[in-house]
Amino acid sequence: MHNFHYQEDLLYCEDVPLERIAKEYGTPCYIYSYATLVRHFRAFDRAFDSVPHIVAFAMKANSNLAILRLMASEGSGADIASGGELYRALNAGIPPHKIVFAGVGKTRAEIRYALESNILMFNVESSGELYTINDVAAELGRHARVALRINPDIDPKTHPYISTGLKKSKFGISANRALEEFRLASSLPNIEVVGVHKHIGSQVTQVTPFVDALKKILALIESLQAQGIHLRYINIGGGLGITYSDETPPHPQELADAISPLVRDLKCELITEPGRVIVGNAGILLTRVLYTKKTEDKRFLIVDAAMNDLIRPSLYDAHHDIWVGHRHSNVPNHTVDVVGPVCESGDFMAKDRLMPETQSGDLLAVMSAGAYAFTMASNYNSRPRVPEILVKDGQSFLIRDRESYQDLVRGEHVPEFLSPGGKGTTE
Ligand SMILES: *Cc1c(COP(=O)(O)O)cnc(C)c1O
Repeated sequence: MHNFHYQEDLLYCEDVPLERIAKEYGTPCYIYSYATLVRHFRAFDRAFDSVPHIVAFAMKANSNLAILRLMASEGSGADIASGGELYRALNAGIPPHKIVFAGVGKTRAEIRYALESNILMFNVESSGELYTINDVAAELGRHARVALRINPDIDPKTHPYISTGLKKSKFGISANRALEEFRLASSLPNIEVVGVHKHIGSQVTQVTPFVDALKKILALIESLQAQGIHLRYINIGGGLGITYSDETPPHPQELADAISPLVRDLKCELITEPGRVIVGNAGILLTRVLYTKKTEDKRFLIVDAAMNDLIRPSLYDAHHDIWVGHRHSNVPNHTVDVVGPVCESGDFMAKDRLMPETQSGDLLAVMSAGAYAFTMASNYNSRPRVPEILVKDGQSFLIRDRESYQDLVRGEHVPEFLSPGGKGTTE
């Protein structure tokens, strides 16, 4: 659960009314609750207390430095997917020995950076990548710790764009080629095989797919042991879902209770990579109604946030609850589309949603916007990216500035031949 709630019909984050945040920082903006973040991290971490484990927060869900710093102070590691994420993680003080690096397309430069940073391990997704890591490690005179990411061919029963553990997906190494790949990895001089990894997808709302996938991995570990390959880490990935509307995902404790007994006797350290379940419901996107518009067929609420700020509804047809900043009794409800100012029909926060009647200037909170929200924001339509604010008790802290128009053109250059008499630059 989270710390966004009504007090006398005004919506608050912890002890701060959202209207105050809107006045101070403007809208749109992302707002995160410190209490929710800490509670979610601890609930997940402690659920696995009965086995040796590392929680590696999947930082593509939310990579703000302050949030990462908070995770680091709670003992979290990081699951990274790029050199940029490694830079952020190290910058925020996440210890390298708790950083794992996934992704099908790691470049040589990223591999070198990760080796020089002495991260815990690479989660390797192909034999081509194994050879490359071996090569780069040799150049540096190092040994690279790796886990092989196995595709367990399990249907997580989630949106196709966030399913990653099916045979047809680009991720991991197929289970029936796994032994061969492990043998290859063990034979490479600058590779140290330390683990096995799987991640079946995101927003998974049942325990069964996790258990089924793990059982496939356990069978593999047994075959590996028979061949003299002993692993030290088993990484079960992330993917635990959250409640956006009426989903009833298992509590992390239920997941842990199903997983821990299966791995307890393996003499392996367990790695988990939760993202959404930690941050998803800890954040909202605060927006203001600009106009209400009624056509022959429909009513629209036109708000100041758009698909470039939060793309999940457009990209995944995702549902986000929308709460009003100020509740009024006795106002009629209407079915509306909540849309943004971007020039695309796909620019919406909600479609055919029953909402209390709203006026221009009213605040709306797009709920469950802590994960895959700001991290997916873009500058489409040359819209500056919005600020991020962290609330703790009765105080708010700006943890990312609103971008300026100058920020929008930073790094762009107009060649001399296009600007006769000009300086050839936008500065
Ligand atoms: C995205 C991702 C995660 C996190 O997924 P959530 O659904 O946010 O928990 C974990 N591991 C890997 C390899 C990922 O790609």
